[in-house]
Amino acid sequence: MQVVRITPRGYCYGVVDAMKLVRQVAEDPKTRKPIFVLGLIVHNRHAVEELDRYGVISLDGENRLELIEHADRGTVVFTAHGVSEAVRQRAAEKGLDVVDATCPDVTKTHDLIRTLAHDGYTILYIGRRGHPEPEGAMGEAPGKVHLIETAADAHDLDLDGRKLAVVTQTTLSRWDTEETIRELRNRYPKIEVFNEICLATQLRQEAAVRQAEHCDLVIVVGDTRSNNSNRLVQVVREQAGRPAYLVDGVHEIDPHWLEDAQTVGVTAGSSTPSPITREVIQFLEQYQMDGASANPGQG
Ligand code: SF4
Repeated sequence: MQVVRITPRGYCYGVVDAMKLVRQVAEDPKTRKPIFVLGLIVHNRHAVEELDRYGVISLDGENRLELIEHADRGTVVFTAHGVSEAVRQRAAEKGLDVVDATCPDVTKTHDLIRTLAHDGYTILYIGRRGHPEPEGAMGEAPGKVHLIETAADAHDLDLDGRKLAVVTQTTLSRWDTEETIRELRNRYPKIEVFNEICLATQLRQEAAVRQAEHCDLVIVVGDTRSNNSNRLVQVVREQAGRPAYLVDGVHEIDPHWLEDAQTVGVTAGSSTPSPITREVIQFLEQYQMDGASANPGQG
């Protein structure tokens, strides 16, 4: 069995910078304590556990505006997913020091939304319900941004097709959004389209599809809550036509998947720490030498 290390994979620049920033802040004696992270720094339990070891408190939940009420003093960190203006204001009202780890690509989308709203556009935001990124983006222009997951979600909205814009979440799949955008264009020929899928997401997905074509199956290392990891599984299945499995770590690999596999691809979401992916690769390489005797969880 051959193991194909799909590249690029794993941590993106936004996540690398966010993790570095929080570590620096946690180690700086001048930082006001306690340090709260508003939401999970990235959607990966291993990355969150690493910050736990620095004494950083991760406030887990869907609504940033509610979560910030749990931070009564010290410092609050905004994650790479970005926050709405209301959350920034609340942090200021509460007298919290702020460390902003918002990814520059997300900030760019927020700026775009504010500009479009200022220019009188109604905005359709294609994103995943319950994910923090749409929450922050919609909060940039309350009442003017409508979250949709598919074109069908736009049916019930009373939309003026003349000043209509569509903006995408950064971690979706190009293939997914293309279909939704095509349908929206059919219904609203004048709709203006802003594809905000970030380069890191796009490159990882394109590499996974291209390199999966030479594999019997692909293992995606990532957390079930990570949108970009789930999208990697989706694009391998739908675009490359290969089986793909999401695993949080080596312990979740089912040896049955490997029974008839000659070539196994490995990739990782942009929120997955490299050591976790390395363990998976090492396990698979060991498996190819030892066959079925290799034991997941020991890797
Ligand atoms: S996935 Fe893209 S938008 Fe999100 S943190 Fe990484 S680079 Fe930034």
